[in-house]
Amino acid sequence: DVLSKQSLPTSTTPYVMKTAYLPDHHRKKILVTGGSGFVGSHLVDKLMMEGHEVIVVDNFFTGQKKNIAHWLHHPNFSLIVHDVTEPIQLEVDQIYHLACPASPPHYQYNPVKTIKTSVMGTLNMLGLAKRVHARILLSSTSEIYGDPEVSPQPESYWGHVNTIGPRACYDEGKRVAETMMYSYQKQNGLDIRVARIFNTFGPRMHPNDGRVVSNFIIEALQNKDMTIYGDGKQTRSFQYVSDLVDGLHALMNNDYTQPVNLGNPSEWTIAEFAEHVQALTKSSSQIIKLPKSTDDPQQRRPDIQTAKRELDWEPKVSVDEGLKKTIEYFAAVLKEAGEIIPT
Ligand code: NAD
Ligand code: UDP
Ligand code: UDP
Repeated sequence: DVLSKQSLPTSTTPYVMKTAYLPDHHRKKILVTGGSGFVGSHLVDKLMMEGHEVIVVDNFFTGQKKNIAHWLHHPNFSLIVHDVTEPIQLEVDQIYHLACPASPPHYQYNPVKTIKTSVMGTLNMLGLAKRVHARILLSSTSEIYGDPEVSPQPESYWGHVNTIGPRACYDEGKRVAETMMYSYQKQNGLDIRVARIFNTFGPRMHPNDGRVVSNFIIEALQNKDMTIYGDGKQTRSFQYVSDLVDGLHALMNNDYTQPVNLGNPSEWTIAEFAEHVQALTKSSSQIIKLPKSTDDPQQRRPDIQTAKRELDWEPKVSVDEGLKKTIEYFAAVLKEAGEIIPT
């Protein structure tokens, strides 16, 4: 596991990293859209360390250049600043299509753009995959299950989504992106993979992206109020980013073409999770309750039998191990920003 063995830089370090040597016939050209974002940049690390040629396409809406700065001068790496809603012609063997804002404040900031990113962005990537006969993997989401009436959620569950609520731009965008993937498979014989990703956390999450893990850790480290939206009884299941990256890689390189849940079944109420982060950071923060978010899913937990059976994949990193690394990361980010972290 390259992520745990290498101490990859987390901030701007413009030097060339050493990568494995792959003979030409094993080296692939791999496109990662959204590759400067949280998940994408960790995936780029894995693919680069394996010795592949990696092209990142990103418009830097929520991505950060510092997430990929350590590759900028590597001969196997290219960065194209480009919006996936516009067509692009490239020559690649595989496409990991991740470009899309993922946190509710970011995807609700400009809902029309979020829909365009999922619909036109995925269409363009499918057109590209069709033209060059590349295998394409879509990063879909547990959000396609909406506010689920069954738990845990298996891939066979069709979901419970409000088509006109504030989350719809993201949920319905990803649902139609999945539909397009299977339509191109049926009509054009495209080689597709669909990952349904559940809540993921780790270093390089954007400090201002408003997701629960980053909010709680940053609030706790600063001894500020920790903000629960609603009564805190809603649940989420949290997966560490290296497990997700391994799962995406396993899915891409496997023959299974139906959707696959990737997540850690370890389920927490948001109130329990707040107390846990408070304890791990030895914070003196107060935990306070704010109004509930509209259409907030009340329970979310992946059924990962498909990933176990088809990919021989399951999460390896416990939530506590992952939280420890993420807390260290945010402590460093706050320090860099000149924030005083009470000890
Ligand atoms: P992120 O916001 O950190 O990364 C998204 C990346 O896509 C950013 O680099 C952003 O600049 C780029 N992007 C957005 N719109 C674009 C556009 N129109 N053109 C080009 N680039 C664009 O989010 P993340 O957590 O890394 O999520 C990556 C993918 O995984 C997303 O598709 C998301 O829906 C999916 N996902 C993530 C989670 C999670 O918990 N992190 C859960 C489910 C699904
Ligand atoms: N497309 C792209 N790069 C390519 C090939 C296609 O961005 O290398 C875009 C193309 O502009 C179109 C979309 O992908 O908007 C779907 O392409 P497809 O060939 O399926 O549809 P068509 O062009 O026939 O509408
Ligand atoms: N949440 C919270 N406080 C925060 C941020 C989020 O209580 O500061 C809640 C949010 O209402 C939701 C859960 O935590 O019930 C997960 O939210 P997140 O935005 O991380 O992801 P998603 O809702 O997309 O799963």
